[in-house]
Formats: sequence, C-alpha cells, structure tokens
Amino acid sequence: MIERNTTKEAVRPKCWTIDDMKRSLLEALRGRFLLTCEYPDTILLNETWMDILEDLHKPGKIQRNIRNIFRPISPLRTSPIEYGFTVVTNRKKNTVFIPTKKSVGEKTHVSFEDYDKKHFQYLLGILHSHPSGQLFSSEDILPLMTGANFFAGVVTSSKYYLAFKAKDTKGMGSNNFVNRGYLLAMARAHLILTSRNPSKDTRSFGMTKSMFRELNMPLYVGNRLQFKLKRTR
Ligand SMILES: [Zn+2]
Repeated sequence: MIERNTTKEAVRPKCWTIDDMKRSLLEALRGRFLLTCEYPDTILLNETWMDILEDLHKPGKIQRNIRNIFRPISPLRTSPIEYGFTVVTNRKKNTVFIPTKKSVGEKTHVSFEDYDKKHFQYLLGILHSHPSGQLFSSEDILPLMTGANFFAGVVTSSKYYLAFKAKDTKGMGSNNFVNRGYLLAMARAHLILTSRNPSKDTRSFGMTKSMFRELNMPLYVGNRLQFKLKRTR
C-alpha cells in the first residue's frame, strides 16, 4: 500500500531543533528516510551541540555539562590535528548520544577503526574537524552513499557543516569501491579532477556544494559560534 502523508508534509517544520534532528536520525535508522525536498531550511544548534562541535578543535577529553559561559568569541581555536566523535544510539534505538572519548587523528584525517561496537550499538554518524577551511572530503561522505551512516559533520577553521543521507541520495549500494568510482567520475565531470590537475591520492578529494546537490544530500552550513545552520541550495 502506498502511504500518502500530505497532511504530515504540510506541517513539516522549516526549522529543526536538535531534538527534531535526533528524531529524524532515529527514524532513518529504522529505515524511514526523508526525501531531500522534505529537509528543513535551517537547523538550530543548542548549547550542548555547539560545545560538542567546538570541542572538536580542543585536545583532551570532552567535559560535558560544564557550561562555558565565558566562551570566547574570538579568536576561534583551531587545532592543526583532526579530532572526531562518533554519534551513536543505544540498543533500543531511542536515544542519541555522543561518547566523550574523542578519536585523535592526523593533519589530514581521523580514523575510526578502533570504534568499539561492543559499547556503541548503532552508529548514526561521525563529527570531525578539518583544520583547513575544506568542506567534506569524498571519503567523509562515502558512508552516506553506502548507507553505513546517516549524517556527517565537519568543523573547519570558521564553519560548521552537516550533511544528511536522504531517501533519494545517490549511491550504488554498499560497495565502497563502486561508490568511489562514481564520485571520481563526478569530480571529473565537475572539473575538480582533470588530467592537468591529477590528484596524488585519487581515492579522496574535496567535495563542493554543487556535488552535494547532485548527490541529493542535504547540506547545512553555519558560522562557528552561531546557532543557526542554513541549508545550501
Ligand atoms: Zn574529513
């Protein structure tokens, strides 16, 4: 039976709070994805999530529930090393949480290979820092194409970025190799990689906003220390 929910769509919020976002991620985990066109125009961070994103540029373990009322406005702290957090849910799939243990990476990437599946039941996505101003890399968004993750976040020297997997997000199944090939062909079509500009590592390159549009991946951007993230069009 085809489910028609036009009434639901009519009341769909144009702005998500973090709670709306979490609800949507848990729905996606249950296989109920939103279409690209159903994503809101803006996402409003709360204090906790802003602290989490800002913590991606700080060494050491995160200290939750200590509200930093003296949060510096300027200068922004930018670590030269990449850090990352996993965003997970419990076995009942009804709570979203972020373990306080940070993954420490190198200058160009952070690896989650030591990710402990025994403790964290379902991975929803990964938040990590890019010390440069670089938007997501192709390797960062690959898990959204293969369906392994539902969203991804990056904090650069000046911006927050969030990207989501939608029902109509392009992907060629769960095969990383095939999806890499797809992205590579797309990068060539967008003239990001050309024969004059061959990438040293053809596995990974910087994504552009227009590539997110083509992949049907809702992408949000906001300035650091600002709560509002706007959808890119
Ligand atoms: Zn990255």
